[in-house]
Amino acid sequence: MANEHLSDNCIFCKIIKGEIPSNKIAETEKSYAFLDINPLSEGHALIIPKYHSEFFHQLPDDVLADMLPLAKKVALAIGLDNGQYNLLQNNGRMAHQEVFHVHFHIIPKPNPEQGLIIGWPQQKFTAEDLKKTLNRIKEKL
Ligand code: AMP
Repeated sequence: MANEHLSDNCIFCKIIKGEIPSNKIAETEKSYAFLDINPLSEGHALIIPKYHSEFFHQLPDDVLADMLPLAKKVALAIGLDNGQYNLLQNNGRMAHQEVFHVHFHIIPKPNPEQGLIIGWPQQKFTAEDLKKTLNRIKEKL
């Protein structure tokens, strides 16, 4: 994939173009994998598309389809021996996105203190509420 889908003022686009250094793990025609510069645990890696999009839902399907197999390959190569890790993809500032170029994090969880620490604030929804939500979503599919 040529550079026509990359932006001039995006840090991850600059990494893909080689204008900013990175610890590259691997790349394909459509995706690029490298080490996170401020890891939550050893091996914390990022998978990014060679296509500038701020958000997951803006990416073309063929690019998305390229990213997850690379993420799987990288996850295996990181050496997730204990089988504990998170695959994370943040969209929007409130959802903890800091770099506005789509990226999947692969974050090994070697112990309770390192890696991703998650809040899981479960809300109360009745069966009727869930049905309403289901219908709202299905109408738009
Ligand atoms: P997020 O909060 O999901 O947007 O995550 C952005 C991630 O990008 C953070 O984990 C940063 O440490 C990482 N990051 C930012 N700049 C660089 C860089 N130049 N090289 C590698 N990772 C970076």
